[in-house]
Amino acid sequence: MSKKYSFDEIVSHLKNYGYVYQGSEIYGGLSNSWDFGILGSYLKKNIKDLWWKEIIEKSPYNVGIDSAILMNSKTWEASGHLKGFSDSMVDCKECKSRFRADQMIENATGLSVEGKTPEEMDAIIEEHNIVCPKCGKHNFTNARPFNLMFKTFIGTIEDAKSVVYLRPETAQGIFVNFNNVLRTSRKKIPFGIGQIGKSFRNEITPGNFIFRVREFEQMELEFFCEPGTDLEWYEYWIKKCYDFVLRMGIKEENLRIRAHAKEELSFYSKGTSDIEYAFPFTTWGEVWGIADRTDYDLKQHMEYSGEKLVYRDPQTNETYVPYCVEPSVGVERLFLMAVCDAYDKETLDNGEERIVMHLHPALAPVKACICPLVKKLSDNAREIFNDLTDEFHCEFDEAGTIGKRYRRNDAIGTPFCITYDFDSLNDNCVTVRHRDSMVQERVEISKLKDYIKERIQF
Ligand code: ATP
Repeated sequence: MSKKYSFDEIVSHLKNYGYVYQGSEIYGGLSNSWDFGILGSYLKKNIKDLWWKEIIEKSPYNVGIDSAILMNSKTWEASGHLKGFSDSMVDCKECKSRFRADQMIENATGLSVEGKTPEEMDAIIEEHNIVCPKCGKHNFTNARPFNLMFKTFIGTIEDAKSVVYLRPETAQGIFVNFNNVLRTSRKKIPFGIGQIGKSFRNEITPGNFIFRVREFEQMELEFFCEPGTDLEWYEYWIKKCYDFVLRMGIKEENLRIRAHAKEELSFYSKGTSDIEYAFPFTTWGEVWGIADRTDYDLKQHMEYSGEKLVYRDPQTNETYVPYCVEPSVGVERLFLMAVCDAYDKETLDNGEERIVMHLHPALAPVKACICPLVKKLSDNAREIFNDLTDEFHCEFDEAGTIGKRYRRNDAIGTPFCITYDFDSLNDNCVTVRHRDSMVQERVEISKLKDYIKERIQF
């Protein structure tokens, strides 16, 4: 694991350069809510575009949809979220801090308490004499479940009938559209349906910057296959997702795939694995979960809706409820992993220090910064900017010394700086300066667009 920099240092860098802003800042903020700034919104968009391209468009199997955030509340009865989507919380009676019981026990003892009841967790807290992580005392309330779904009302009357929930995952919007997709596509099993969208969880202990937030974006794929082939597809999607992360340029030493132990699995799951990253604030943090969910979800929706959610094999005419493999990932987690892995500080030959983010060029918010050497050359340089902007996001910077402009672009992760100088007027070339190697080369202006396009491919 290569943990060179503190999390605080990376977070303050992201805030300083406008990757992320404090949410509702002028009102003193809202706890654990963050806004993505000028650069951060590009990084998020690039991550989402790449997922959509690689997982949906380039796959021979998958299609995409975009379902509503608010859904009929029966959805959450069927999915089990109304009954079971809760974490147990405990309060310290001394200092009044609140904790997720499972996290507190796991941190204190290393024991996994997946599937344990609140009463069983109370017993473990007693047995191990666990103390409050804040004040060090041992005086807790009993553990009690807390539903993580945000509740609101639809329409003008706030009564039990008008209760709706903000979705805690995007997956259910896919399951309820299973028949619609079958009817309107020419897909045959195996096939997957994916979507990107906001999810909301009233987390008891959000934190670690954007790692655990109450409002986040998920990219989920529900991949339907014939029962009996599910474990093969489960392995297939673990590999695909891991490859995606490697292709983002993440260092392999900071990654691992963790298969859940039997006792950690949901009762319906035949296998679940997480791709984890060695974030600076913890040993390993979940980034991407891949689960074999069998036919649980479709069967639940069949039972609660009365609709048949089945597939008829065109060859055998046999009808069955497909099994489902689900790779599910949060955009904010991929974002945080990318920036933690990319952040670096280097001492240059002249003794100066530079901060550089070695982001994969496909992820970098700004692909190229066009820098006229002096303001007098701005009109010529602008022409290049206008031409390149047709294809990718560029910045134009004519202020300060060239050295300062390079430093700023290193710090925000721009892979190329393009300098238009007096020689450019005669030789129709510009100097392209590479972020990582700092090598500079002359490139013909007429070839510049292709030159950069080639080098920012995923
Ligand atoms: P955890 O155990 O960390 O609470 P989970 O196992 O409940 O997560 P899933 O329900 O499997 O998470 O969600 C799938 C993915 O969505 C996670 O791998 C993660 O990338 C993302 N995710 C889940 N909860 C949050 C959150 N509160 N903030 C940001 N991303 C999240």
